[in-house]
Amino acid sequence: RELGISAYLVKPIRQSELLSGICCVLSATSLPASTPLVTRHTLREIQNHLHILLAEDNAVNSTLALRLLEKRDDTVCLARDGLAAMEALEKETVDLILMDVQMPVMDGLEATRAIRLKEQSSGKHIPIVAMTAHALKDDQERCLASGMDDYVSKPIRTAE
Ligand code: MN
Repeated sequence: RELGISAYLVKPIRQSELLSGICCVLSATSLPASTPLVTRHTLREIQNHLHILLAEDNAVNSTLALRLLEKRDDTVCLARDGLAAMEALEKETVDLILMDVQMPVMDGLEATRAIRLKEQSSGKHIPIVAMTAHALKDDQERCLASGMDDYVSKPIRTAE
């Protein structure tokens, strides 16, 4: 701090940590004015951790998605079908919903339509991203038409 160094990180450095450290010191606006030195702790504080609702009936797919998301330190709440997803939303505030399309009881399209309908009174808009088994144009259009914001095709890839 006395030498005028902007940040210090502890080795071994994770790639994501290094990147956010660099971004952080380059854009001092993202930091509270009182932050004297960027540390691993600062990065953790400003890092965008999400609370995600994962609606997926398939155990293999949900395990894979859980693993990817928890690596990012996101917290995940799991619902096994569309109706369970709606019930979870009554109890929890989430930043994002990852929605499988084909599920028993209530599928992802129906659940999305129901969520969007409810939102009309609250004025909120939770981002919903479909996880589609087939990357068919028709499926994708049906997802967007139901009120989803985007889609990724399964098997999901981290970068995507
Ligand atoms: Mn499914």
